[in-house]
Amino acid sequence: MARTRRAGRITLVGGGPGPADLLTIRAARALAVADVVYFDRLGPTEDLARLAPRATFVDVGKTPGHHKVAQEDITARMLDGARAGLHVVRLKGGDPFVFGRGGEEMAGAVAAGIPVTVIPGISSAIAVPGAAGIPVTHRNVSHLFTVVSGHAPLSTSEYTHLAGLGGTIVVLMGIGTLPSLVAGLRLAGLANVTPVAVVESGFSHSQRTTTATVGSIVGASSSCRNPAVIVIGDVVGLAGANGLGIPDFLADAGLQSA
Ligand code: SAH
Repeated sequence: MARTRRAGRITLVGGGPGPADLLTIRAARALAVADVVYFDRLGPTEDLARLAPRATFVDVGKTPGHHKVAQEDITARMLDGARAGLHVVRLKGGDPFVFGRGGEEMAGAVAAGIPVTVIPGISSAIAVPGAAGIPVTHRNVSHLFTVVSGHAPLSTSEYTHLAGLGGTIVVLMGIGTLPSLVAGLRLAGLANVTPVAVVESGFSHSQRTTTATVGSIVGASSSCRNPAVIVIGDVVGLAGANGLGIPDFLADAGLQSA
C-alpha cells in the first residue's frame, strides 16, 4: 500500500487571560499534540514548553502599534505548515474570536482546503473584570454588557447607542483611546457620575484596579498601561475581590498563577 503523508491541520486555540491554569483541558490537549505553536504575548507563555513538548515555537506577538509579523504572513506560514503535514496550533490570548483575528485565520484555512478547528478560551472581557471583583452583569444593576474595541474611535451613532443602552460597557485595547471614548459617551448623554474601572494586567502579580467616574477617569488613569480592560457602569461599584485574582485555595497550595 502506498504511504500517504500525514494530513496537516490547524487548531485555533483560546489561551485565556494569562495563567496556564486558565487554559481549558481541550486547549491543553491540543497543545500536547502540536508540532508547531504560533503564539503571542497575551496568551499563556510561561509553561509552553511543558504544555507542548513536541512543538517548535514561533512568536508572532504584537504590541499596540508594533506589528511584529503581518497577519497575512502568520496565516500564510500556518497554511504552509499544515500543507507539510504538521499539526499547527495558533494560540491566542483569551478567546480566538474576540478581537483576535481568529476569523481571518479560519477563513484562510477553509479557502486553502485545510481542516481547521476552534477551541474557545476564557475571554479577558469577562474574566479580567471578574478578577477585580466586578461582575459584568448583576441582578437589578445591569442585565447586559457590550464589549467594544478601543482600537479605533467609535462613530457618533455608536456612542449614542452605547450610552443609551444603560448596561455595562467593557472596552478592550482602550487605554490609548480612553479620552475620546469618555468624551464621546459624555456628549451622547452618559452621566458624569457613572463609575469606571481600569483593570491592568489581570491575573498577574502586577494586577491593578483604578476606579473613578466618567467625569474623572481620564486624569485618574494617566499612569495606566496596556494590557487593560476598562469597565464602565454601575457594576463597578460592586467590586469585592482581593484584587489579585488568585483564589485562596490556589495561593495556599503554592499554585500561584503566572
Ligand atoms: N482575544 C482576547 C482579546 C484580544 S485584544 C480575549 O478574548 O481576551 C487584547 C486586549 O485584551 C488587551 O489590549 C486588553 O484590553 C485585553 N486583555 C487581554 N488579556 C488581558 C489581561 N490579562 N489583563 C488585562 N487586559 C487583558
